[in-house]
Amino acid sequence: MSKNVYQFIDVKRIDPPKKPVEQRKIDFVEIYQPMSSDQSQGQADRCLDCGNPYCEWKCPVHNYIPQWLELVTEGKIFEAADLCHQTNSLPEMCGRVCPQDRLCESACTLNDDFGAVTIGNIEKYITDTAFEQGWKPDLSHVIQTGKKVAVIGAGPAGLACADVLTRNGIKAVVYDKHAEIGGLLTFGIPSFKLEKSVVKRRREIFEGMGIEFHLNTNVGVDISFDSLSQEYDAVFLALGTYTDMTGGFDNEGATGVYNALDFLIGNTQKLMGITENAKPYINFEGKKVIVLGGGDTAMDCVRTSVRQGATNVTCAYRRDEANMPGSPREVQNAKEEGVNFEFNLQPLDIAVNEQGLAIGVKFVKTQLGEPDANGRRNPEVIEGSEFVMPADAVVIAFGFLPSPPQWMKDAGVEVDARGRVLAKDTSQFALQTSKGNIFAGGDMVLGSDLVVTAIDQGRKAAMGILDYVFDEQVIAVS
Ligand code: FAD
Ligand code: SF4
Repeated sequence: MSKNVYQFIDVKRIDPPKKPVEQRKIDFVEIYQPMSSDQSQGQADRCLDCGNPYCEWKCPVHNYIPQWLELVTEGKIFEAADLCHQTNSLPEMCGRVCPQDRLCESACTLNDDFGAVTIGNIEKYITDTAFEQGWKPDLSHVIQTGKKVAVIGAGPAGLACADVLTRNGIKAVVYDKHAEIGGLLTFGIPSFKLEKSVVKRRREIFEGMGIEFHLNTNVGVDISFDSLSQEYDAVFLALGTYTDMTGGFDNEGATGVYNALDFLIGNTQKLMGITENAKPYINFEGKKVIVLGGGDTAMDCVRTSVRQGATNVTCAYRRDEANMPGSPREVQNAKEEGVNFEFNLQPLDIAVNEQGLAIGVKFVKTQLGEPDANGRRNPEVIEGSEFVMPADAVVIAFGFLPSPPQWMKDAGVEVDARGRVLAKDTSQFALQTSKGNIFAGGDMVLGSDLVVTAIDQGRKAAMGILDYVFDEQVIAVS
């Protein structure tokens, strides 16, 4: 029977149901409930199978979206999982944390008038269902090459690189200073967006494929980079970006002012029962909290504060809601969970008491001026509008800058003026750095970005490394 292409008119877009807000506010578990097979098939069937699929173009890894949607409508889950893995090393993570409302779903032909196909949720359905039914990657055709590569950093970039190397017969050995793989997937993104059992399951799959993990290993401290560079045929650096951006205002270092990642990492480590080399647990129970910033990290901080039992949580941002960098979906979730949003406020100073303890934030009101070169309207200060908003704790969530270690620079790896590693996304030797046997990718090359762009870089770097380790000439001159 031929496909009813007008299915999208009869079947409306439905999003996965969320757990009740009162339960969400105390739980560190994912808020979205799974959709049934029938619901997922019905939603997948809304796809028009566009000749030129905008969703696929907008996706940074160019997932074969219409094709796997069709396999779902046919109930072919293992085939759909195989296809998902052809372009993406961590589809179950992307299904959960990609900002689809800014990527594939925003580009879907049906988006404006009928509601985009629920692409992200179906990606999650495919992978979760396939795993439940025992799907595993088939590596029976892979011929071992005898080459081995060290991957430093077990975040999405490092994991994606190790995945593609392994599928091409190269032994990947991954080093990370944390006790679990995942990088920010595990320690930055809170469990209410991505439960840590999902990362653990992926680790089991990767270990089953032959990827070796050396965790709790801080390269440059526990093991020297030089020894890795000499021992392996190539090295992939995927260290992320971990220097906190500051506001440059007074008293930012006062007691009671915290960096977003210290807060989030400490919270997740406590939930995971990690004590070795763990960050201190920062507890906002019973406190009035102000989070400064308007991105996804700020949303994770406000929602974590709510779950810890803060009495009042405010997100203060210097532009208006329309100009917030965070995903609208996460802003909506935060609002539902009781977070107050205060827009057009620029922090000037942390108000402190006589003991130097933070007691609030001094703000000035702003209004949006003319658009800058990127089309973004800059906030302009409204003179005389200063006031102090009281708080017991303040979290700074202004983003992150690269944190290139000295050992990397000593090895001859060049960085740009902002500290990002120089590695070009070229067709051959993709993401090779200024040092021949060293490749780099993810946030440390792009600057803080997204899980899916880090995956893309890791996969491309693996192809660059394959070019490199099998090219005798390059090995000779490197
Ligand atoms: P990372 O994930 O940072 O991984 C780097 C790894 O390198 C870490 O595990 C670190 O321990 C390890 N490492 C560093 N130095 C060493 C060393 N010397 N020795 C050994 N190991 C080392 N993106 C989304 O798409 N969706 C989201 O919802 C989202 N939410 C986010 C929430 C927060 C709070 C933050 C901070 C970011 C969020 N992002 C989100 C961005 C996304 O997490 C990152 O872009 C992505 O994780 C970058 O991947 P990466 O592999 O480059 O680096
Ligand atoms: Fe299907 Fe939307 Fe992609 Fe078109 S743009 S192929 S309708 S998911």
